[in-house]
Amino acid sequence: MSAVPQERRVVTAIPGPKSQELQARRTAAVAGGVGSVLPVFTTRAGGGIVEDVDGNRLIDFGSGIAVTSVGASAEAVVRRATAQLQDFTHTCFMVTPYEGYVEVCEQLAELTPGDHAKKSALFNSGAEAVENAVKIARAYTKRTAVVVFDHGYHGRTNLTMGMTAKNMPYKHGFGPFAPEIYRVPVAYGYRWPTGAENAGAEASAQAIDMITKQIGAENVAAIIIEPVLGEGGFIEPAKGFLPAISKFATDNGIVFVADEIQSGFCRTGQWFACEDEGVVPDLITTAKGIAGGLPLAAVTGRAEIMDAPHAGGLGGTYGGNPVACAAALGAIETMKELDLNGKAKRIEEVMKGRLAAMAEKHDVIGDIRGRGAMIAIELVVSGTKDGDKTPNAAAAAALAKACHQEGLLVLTCGTYGNVLRFLPPLVIGEDLLNEGLDIIENAFAGI
Ligand SMILES: *Cc1c(COP(=O)(O)O)cnc(C)c1O
Repeated sequence: MSAVPQERRVVTAIPGPKSQELQARRTAAVAGGVGSVLPVFTTRAGGGIVEDVDGNRLIDFGSGIAVTSVGASAEAVVRRATAQLQDFTHTCFMVTPYEGYVEVCEQLAELTPGDHAKKSALFNSGAEAVENAVKIARAYTKRTAVVVFDHGYHGRTNLTMGMTAKNMPYKHGFGPFAPEIYRVPVAYGYRWPTGAENAGAEASAQAIDMITKQIGAENVAAIIIEPVLGEGGFIEPAKGFLPAISKFATDNGIVFVADEIQSGFCRTGQWFACEDEGVVPDLITTAKGIAGGLPLAAVTGRAEIMDAPHAGGLGGTYGGNPVACAAALGAIETMKELDLNGKAKRIEEVMKGRLAAMAEKHDVIGDIRGRGAMIAIELVVSGTKDGDKTPNAAAAAALAKACHQEGLLVLTCGTYGNVLRFLPPLVIGEDLLNEGLDIIENAFAGI
């Protein structure tokens, strides 16, 4: 594990003076469109701690947005990536290949759901993986339409912006977007008009009706969904929704794609979140947690679908970079050795227990949801818990700020900006986990 001491320490205001100096340089040199949740400049990170230039040590409930599940300096990741760096940094897999790429694809075939023959292609980012899943599905089906869902997030390239639901900050002013993208309802239980218990059946019926009546199932190449929606607010589609959509896709020759970029690789306490309801996607996109912090992404799926594009039709200069592949093999090794699925389930148990106790006292907490180490609270205007559920983005912002001041790194999300999300590294110690939850509990007193 990391050399960073696993202790919270707040020795200056946050951000401290050195971070503020760097922030001034950053403002002059870095494009203003690139934001930061908390402008403390990092020197070291590992386990459950991020250390900054002023010597503060923050408890990490963000994992660099669900990336460093094995920690930000996991031993096996550092060891394997370092060894690979010394051997060679790059050849381009499309020029002369190397074993690490093949080994990552073998691991993906083994770990993803379903016992059918599988193949993979590797890329640099989540958005690039989603783009390629669409290319592959179109090549296979010879159809063009792409179906996505309310509250979905798929990236920041032109196609994936178009596939993303939320305007600000992802899309505003950046259009026009690619054509043939259609958005249908998702089973958002907490906000479903007739109640969570009806959401799975009703939302899937509505989505299927829209696809058949407005698009035509025979025109649809792919249906793409996050099995737990990430940026949209950690929405778990109500039970029955994913199986119904997946079955509809299969019945109609549509490629069903699970975007597991945020929810995959042990994050929800299973290798992939779609396993929870036994859904076997045709294609899975992965990134974030796959390589312990190095940029790597993949599309994995049924061999006959993956082989549909013509030779040379897929690729990219850096896709499946050897150092990133070595890191991925180290991350996967760590996940298996430390049983990070088990750790994620334990994190869920601790977090949900503590958050439920907080909800008893604070009716600003409208909903507690998520699985494994992908847990969120949705905040509503106080007193409306059983009423109109008016989103309370101000409370989310105030709570996040209060946590940051105390040295707990938390993130917000949600279409309405009113969700506080918790994505600790799966290797976080239970003491730090509880200390972070203490900070959240105290933060409620101040809002
Ligand atoms: C983060 C994310 C992406 C985009 O990944 P990048 O690596 O940022 O391009 C796509 N889909 C989901 C579900 C994500 O969470």
